[in-house]
Amino acid sequence: HYTDNHDSLSSDCESGAGNHHGAKYAKELIGAALQKRVQEVDPHDCQAGEEDAFFVADLGDVYRQHLRWKSHLPRVTPHYAVKCNPDPMVLRLLAALGAGFDCASKTEIDQVLAMGVDPSRVIYAQPCKTKSYLKYTVSSKVTQMTFDNTDELYKIRDIAPDAELFLRILTDDSGSLCRLSQKFGASMDTVPELLALAKKLNLNIAGVAFHVGSGASDPEAFLQAVSDARLVFDQAQALGLSPHTLDVGGGFVSDTFDKMAGVLSSALDKHFSSSVRIIAEPGRYYTSSAFTIACNVIARRTVADPTNEGRGNSYMLYLNDGVYGNFSSIIFDHQHPVPHLLSSRRKPDGYDYSVGSLVDSGYVSADDDDDVSPATANTSGNLIDYSIWGPTCDGIDCISEKWQSMDAVDVGNWLYFEDMGAYTKCSATKFNGFPDKHDVIYVSSEEGASALLGL
Ligand code: PLP
Repeated sequence: HYTDNHDSLSSDCESGAGNHHGAKYAKELIGAALQKRVQEVDPHDCQAGEEDAFFVADLGDVYRQHLRWKSHLPRVTPHYAVKCNPDPMVLRLLAALGAGFDCASKTEIDQVLAMGVDPSRVIYAQPCKTKSYLKYTVSSKVTQMTFDNTDELYKIRDIAPDAELFLRILTDDSGSLCRLSQKFGASMDTVPELLALAKKLNLNIAGVAFHVGSGASDPEAFLQAVSDARLVFDQAQALGLSPHTLDVGGGFVSDTFDKMAGVLSSALDKHFSSSVRIIAEPGRYYTSSAFTIACNVIARRTVADPTNEGRGNSYMLYLNDGVYGNFSSIIFDHQHPVPHLLSSRRKPDGYDYSVGSLVDSGYVSADDDDDVSPATANTSGNLIDYSIWGPTCDGIDCISEKWQSMDAVDVGNWLYFEDMGAYTKCSATKFNGFPDKHDVIYVSSEEGASALLGL
């Protein structure tokens, strides 16, 4: 049973970093896991599916992100957005670290509660809920939920009259990667009507919620949203309602997190006294960089030098995963995954995959790389042009229209892609009969995470 006791983390948080071995160690660990797995697969004699794409997940990365969150946003309790990546080990770690959870459906609620998480740590952050799911929240004792329209209030009055309601307001999400405000959020001019109806129906307005858009890039969006939320608190209080919690949603991106957190913190301190509880619903921030995927090159098509300018041939590479699978993030999440080659070589006793390109990216030290060479040497001295495709019959199934590399890539080689932990495997399909579930090899670059998970 997970408690939300964070005491064991306090010394790590004070140092702002934790007892970690650093990103370099994480890269070595991930590189070693990638190598070990591909060495187990003989491309010339493996069973169907043995060379399927697979993930390596560094749970130490998730742990570090949590410590970083706590040191930059100590006032804000994260409720991890399960939709982003419902990986069971990620959920277990975050539960043990004391995070709450943002769930969007019955399945997500079930998954979180089945781990022993108390229902009070869950928010059903879906403003337009399925009636039967709403009924289910009552039986499962999940009471926190969002709404943004009058019909939903009547539905809640009928099914879950004791719910703790968060009025989700509209934000300016024009600076975000995935805009959400075209679908959800009450505009400020409809707020008085919604609050008045909630009061008339005798419902419990627990707070205000917003989401500045997934992959947010504009700190101004947080500033405006926090000050709008303050107005809604004031309007609710004027009606005799007692909101006590602000939910600042998700949208955080690792690269810009420190800056965003700074802007958000000062806006919170300016507008909300310390008696107001603050929660958030981060997804991508927690998992994006923790997952690396490796895919097998199942086929290659040579395209004869298209310019005839002596640049050499270009190649179409076909992988065993694509936009209908874990690269769904290209379509749904506007991502541009970057390939790297795990190069291969033949040894007297069979095939060995070494990490030629991993040396450049810091995965292994150059000393380990003495006898690594690509499968077929590129002796031209020119970059080779590739396009990279998924395995389905559909022309839309393209991972990268143009990738240039000094490496010569052959059928049977493996490519790996970093930052594949957010909105990837959760939206994979079985289209063309390809699997929608892939192995995840778990490693941990943090002793704290290993200890919590018994790794
Ligand atoms: N909360 C809600 C209601 C969402 O719709 C989303 C993403 O769509 C999130 C949280 C997570 O957002 P992010 O992954 O950008 O932090």
